[in-house]
Amino acid sequence: MTTCFDIGGSFIRHGTLQDDGSVAESGRVPTPGNDWQAFVDAIDSCTGTDRGPISISLAGAFDDRTGFADVANIPCLHKRSVKTDLEAALKRPVLITNDANAFALAEAIDGSGRGKPVVFGIILGTGVGGGLVVNGHLVKGVGGIAGEWGHGPVVDPTAGGQLKGLEHYPCGCGQTGCIDAVCSARGMEKIHLTLHGKSLSSKDITSAWHRGDVEATHTIEAYATLLSRALSVLVNTLGPDVIPVSGGLSGDEALLSLIDRKTRTLVLAHYADPLVFKGQFAENGGLHGAGIVARTAFSEART
Ligand SMILES: [Zn+2]
Repeated sequence: MTTCFDIGGSFIRHGTLQDDGSVAESGRVPTPGNDWQAFVDAIDSCTGTDRGPISISLAGAFDDRTGFADVANIPCLHKRSVKTDLEAALKRPVLITNDANAFALAEAIDGSGRGKPVVFGIILGTGVGGGLVVNGHLVKGVGGIAGEWGHGPVVDPTAGGQLKGLEHYPCGCGQTGCIDAVCSARGMEKIHLTLHGKSLSSKDITSAWHRGDVEATHTIEAYATLLSRALSVLVNTLGPDVIPVSGGLSGDEALLSLIDRKTRTLVLAHYADPLVFKGQFAENGGLHGAGIVARTAFSEART
């Protein structure tokens, strides 16, 4: 039996891969963030007596060249060769996939991008990330960075003169002007604070926008403008058939619709149908994607 995991900074969700390719979720436990042995024990306890392979979706970058992971929100995994160390500790095969890549695979193989050549799945939540699947194959890129459109000093806070009052924000990656710094949930909150001097959560801002609040509308317009300008470059570069969205902000379909409309006006190709929308696997892309990775790895091993 293959056990699949979706490991985030707060919780470890787990489930078992079924014969039909789906993953039946079994439950979740808190993520031991600072203690490697406690982390290993948590994974082990979730598999019960089963000693079959493990497939993990994890928020972080994994470099196939070095085997090392960059997992900022789970310190005990950071700069560790998670796959090698887990295999040694648990004595069974371990597969690891970046969470945005797992989501993109889930959409491309079994979700909104099924049968479509180019699927660019994006995450809008605590951070901004993405994964690229072309003709059913995940594109990893050098160092596993393909699809990570959240970083790079590209944001013009005036949006070509349309916006006033916004600043360049520093990003956790060390640069200034990253998409991640302005278009994550925290970024939306920073925009609101800068424009209106008020600290509100992203949820409160979007709720106020839905009620027609003038300040929140100003914030959301700025947010969607900056996001769509960056996304339009990706669309022109990749030519995606669909851009399904996951992450905490994906639950607001009106927000995604606004981003979609703005993006489609900025790109070279004509998209008659919505391009940016909530993914079918927005809630469980990590687990389902981990299942697809296992399905693929073990069917290839048999042939
Ligand atoms: Zn950055």
